[in-house]
Amino acid sequence: MRIEDKLSARTQFMHANVTREILKVVGQPGMISLAGGIPAPESFPIDIIRDLTNEVLDEFGPAALQYDQTEGFTPLRMALMDYMPTRGVVNVNLDTLNIFSGSQSTLDLISKVLITPGDTIAIEAPSYLGAISAFNAYQPTYVSIATDENGMIPEALEETLKTQTIKFIYLVPTFQNPTGRTLSLERRKRVAELLQQYDVLLVEDDPYSALRYSGEALPPIQQFAPDHVIYSSTFSKILSPGLRLGFCVAPAPLARWLAIAKQGSDLHTQTLGQAIAALYLRGGYLTDHLPNIIALYRPRLESMLNALANYMPEGFTWSHPEGGMFLWLAGPEGLDTDVLYQECVARGVAFVPGRYFYYDYSQGLNTMRLNFTMVSPAVVDKAVKILAETAQDTLIT
Ligand code: PMP
Repeated sequence: MRIEDKLSARTQFMHANVTREILKVVGQPGMISLAGGIPAPESFPIDIIRDLTNEVLDEFGPAALQYDQTEGFTPLRMALMDYMPTRGVVNVNLDTLNIFSGSQSTLDLISKVLITPGDTIAIEAPSYLGAISAFNAYQPTYVSIATDENGMIPEALEETLKTQTIKFIYLVPTFQNPTGRTLSLERRKRVAELLQQYDVLLVEDDPYSALRYSGEALPPIQQFAPDHVIYSSTFSKILSPGLRLGFCVAPAPLARWLAIAKQGSDLHTQTLGQAIAALYLRGGYLTDHLPNIIALYRPRLESMLNALANYMPEGFTWSHPEGGMFLWLAGPEGLDTDVLYQECVARGVAFVPGRYFYYDYSQGLNTMRLNFTMVSPAVVDKAVKILAETAQDTLIT
């Protein structure tokens, strides 16, 4: 049978995620990977999870193993109603809050409910490529909004909103993946005004704001325009990505539609993990453990910033994130980071070339994303040194 003849039209718009392909290559022994986007294994609170699993079974018994409501396990939703306002999220209640199978599944459900083929989505350039993968299956078109070191430029957004009908805007305003950049407070307020003025929805994807290593916390855009924002976050970076737990606050009618869409996808998010997360929040374990994660990552970021300043040749610039997991590096015009990637991999260091974070791969040819959470400060230093030497050689030849 020719399976190609059986596939839906939608599959033409679906592509394998490039970073997942790169991760397969870089899993080789001896390779230093700055390519990944995953938390360090030593950040996981294994002992806490072991204890909480027992507590969950004592407290909830079979209910922790049973089918449950699509909207999420009630004790977790209650715990999030206490926790999310500490991040500045407003309107968190049982009509607006859903638990989904990781924030990736939130992006898929949002797409399922909102995108009619041909609709236009406004995205930052560059953008999180997992979101583009989620959207692609629903066949939207894209418009890129220009960014600078303070994130998306509101004037550029307004230009687009004036001239085009946009179904929604997708933004990672804090410690963005891939750039590590953060949208300033002033811009957050301006974006919120534009949402209201043009009556357009924003998907605010916020997996990283809890991982702040310096500077002051910023409120989410959702706080300034809750009727126009779908706020999405996750336990992946503050507990464990393997539990696949995302949480999402949306205007009530939309939250209801997201739950209806989820019924057809997977009925509900796994109950046992939700019960563990409920006690993780309720028992104050997150408050205790988050400083450990921050203490693990902060020196890794510092080491990367120092190494870049020490070793990179003339002509390179990079972002200076105050948190998250990534940093964005731009080389001189004409540098092809795909070629640099091949050379670096041959010398034992991997990263992700930047063009894969643009929806059509046509921009950012001289850029790259560096992850700093997976290796120790000393190894970060070594990797950046190799990267800098390889970049120097590539530029000379
Ligand atoms: N959004 C962004 C911006 C991400 O970087 C990630 C993970 N790398 C996700 C969503 C998906 O995370 P999860 O499904 O594990 O919650």
